[in-house]
Amino acid sequence: MKTPASEFSESARRYTADLNHRHFIQKALAGYYVKRDEFKSRFQSWSGARDLASEIKWEAINHLDRYLEEFASKIEARGVKVFWAENAQEARDYIVKVARQNNVRSIIKSKTMTGEEIHLNEKLEEEGFEIVESDLGEYIVQLRQEPPYHFVFPSMHLKRKQISDLFHDKLGAPPTNEPEELTMTARRVMRQKFCAADMGITGANFVVAETGMISITENEGNSRLTAALPKVHVAIVGIEKVLPKFADLALFLPMLATAGAGQSLTCYNTFYGAPKLPGEPDGPKEFHVVLLDNRRTQLLADAEQRDALHCIRCGACLNVCPIFKNVGGHSYGTTYQGPIGSVITPHLRGLQNWKHLSQASSLCGACTEACPVKINLHHHLLHNRRNAAQAKPTLAERIMYRGFAFTMLRPKVYQLVTELGRLLQPLRSIIDGTVLDPLRPWTKTRSFPPVAEKSFRDLWRERPVAQVSKPADLSGLGNRERDCQSETKARPEEPSERERASQSPISKSADRTTTNLNETHADVPKAKNPSTSRESILARIREALKISAPHPANDTPQKPASPEQWLPPVGKTVDEQIDLFHQNAKALKADFQICTDLAAATEFVKTLAAREDWKKIGVHSGELTNAVVRAVGLPLVNTDNNYSLDALETCDAGITECESLIAQTGTVLVSARRSGGRALSVLPQHHVVLARRSQMLPDLTGALRQVQEKFANQFPGLLSLITGPSRTGDIERILVLGAHGPKRMTILLVG
Ligand code: SF4
Repeated sequence: MKTPASEFSESARRYTADLNHRHFIQKALAGYYVKRDEFKSRFQSWSGARDLASEIKWEAINHLDRYLEEFASKIEARGVKVFWAENAQEARDYIVKVARQNNVRSIIKSKTMTGEEIHLNEKLEEEGFEIVESDLGEYIVQLRQEPPYHFVFPSMHLKRKQISDLFHDKLGAPPTNEPEELTMTARRVMRQKFCAADMGITGANFVVAETGMISITENEGNSRLTAALPKVHVAIVGIEKVLPKFADLALFLPMLATAGAGQSLTCYNTFYGAPKLPGEPDGPKEFHVVLLDNRRTQLLADAEQRDALHCIRCGACLNVCPIFKNVGGHSYGTTYQGPIGSVITPHLRGLQNWKHLSQASSLCGACTEACPVKINLHHHLLHNRRNAAQAKPTLAERIMYRGFAFTMLRPKVYQLVTELGRLLQPLRSIIDGTVLDPLRPWTKTRSFPPVAEKSFRDLWRERPVAQVSKPADLSGLGNRERDCQSETKARPEEPSERERASQSPISKSADRTTTNLNETHADVPKAKNPSTSRESILARIREALKISAPHPANDTPQKPASPEQWLPPVGKTVDEQIDLFHQNAKALKADFQICTDLAAATEFVKTLAAREDWKKIGVHSGELTNAVVRAVGLPLVNTDNNYSLDALETCDAGITECESLIAQTGTVLVSARRSGGRALSVLPQHHVVLARRSQMLPDLTGALRQVQEKFANQFPGLLSLITGPSRTGDIERILVLGAHGPKRMTILLVG
């Protein structure tokens, strides 16, 4: 019978032997390393940013009950329905119920790993719904009927020829070698799906307690469309995604983009806090957030490994992992691949069935080094190995560990064994890797290290005597005993195992770990008489948090510093900031134009419309847009009046105003209230943004602070940071613009 471990071994062997695959993956990641390092070096201190990110996540996870309740009460006050799901089944059933209540037929979905985790697509298809993945990489693997290869780059293992053949077979598209043509094929198909879908399902990268919002990070614009066009929006989010403050995003968004994709900021970072609100032109009528536990509280209860819940799913640990690059993402057989998957899957799906993943590591520590929130990944792999062996040792482990302990506790036996090993050394080279070799499973693909000619004891005996001070009272003993005794006496008396356990919080957590090892939910602390899933999850969280986890700053909590201290520096004057914005926009392939006044801006737009042969434009009412579009003289679709999606979709350009421009990253901040709703800035092919010089802000921290002050508790349903035109790298990591959102972006600065 096949087990996850045997399937892993079989698949890993196959992929490792495939040199083409290994070369292709290494090549695909080569560009990522260059870009990641470039953007990391722009931080004033990447390591300072990591420290701060780690402290913020520690605060969030170690007060999870409080922050989740704050989030839920804030977002519910704006008409969002929050459902607390204890497990996959509850989450799936709730989503099906919502779909039935709204007479949904077709569903569009943007990438959500929690959706993969609960096998949502299978359930919805089984229930008769049409469900389409809108992220290009996810769409490709959906057509191939296979799981994502990597939780950030789902189709990174596929060559363009394979994708071309797939699109030819499934969509009737002509064969092509051009990633751009392939992307446009998917865009055309998807546009119809977006406009026809009754329900949109997304995940979320962060949940902000302070403002009651979810934050979604993406490059293509498909999540924007998924959350904007259908009449119902459902977001599925793991309970660990919480951040305490809105301002925390100023640190986490650039870190996520840098570590995960080698970008300063991904193209769209969007905050949703409500369904369509009064006075907003569009948006879903219903917005549901499903907060998913699904054994996350089990991991929370393990104080030693609790920091694994700090993960922001950037994928950086996969990208640097030598095992991932050789065995490939599909070998893991898990929703979350690579080092983080190997750490958390045993908690989420059962330690004994998934303990083999902890062995799939060279323990080189590259993952820990790469992690932007400083999760101690390679040590957690060791913790899992220890926990698995403690909880249910196999016969071989039992024999091995007992033999090891027996030998190590008896110096004479130890010496005999090492000498035997040296004597039998010549035999080793004869039987190495053959059927006679008792270590064959291991030595088939590895070399057994030779026994050293001299043991540590030999070397110790032979050391020059002058280097050690002679103990005064041990003259009656032989050399070896003398050394051992002096070592023992020099050490202070150590506490017993039991004493240690009662003193150290880590030891307490280790005890806890031992009781959490079985694979059933029974080990998760239960609420006394929980009346709802919400109460039950909160009770489990509170129970789990009774054991404290070590603070990242060595148990001495410090006041977190401000993110500005670590993020890329920005010039002080407005002119310097405009220059920086211009440079950033150019690097992002967005056009930037300074117009001295409104008349110049109008002239510019007229020329642009003539050059690109615009026939129809989408607009909204605003001081700048009114003046400019009146003079352009083209048919308009005004989103402030009742508009049809089909009409807006056929517009050549969408002209909007914005809340602010951000020099640090070349970003435009739009809102549902000030920028003509949710669809206008993402549906037409060309997005033109009009802004005043006074709207230029130096950095993301300032921009978030400004909207927070401006809107207080009256946030619009959507705030979106747009950093360049829509893009994808899902086909051989080659950049293509206009994956789903606008292919072009022009920013006009007036004044
Ligand atoms: S463990 Fe760290 S590096 Fe890996 S995905 Fe999570 S945040 Fe990124």
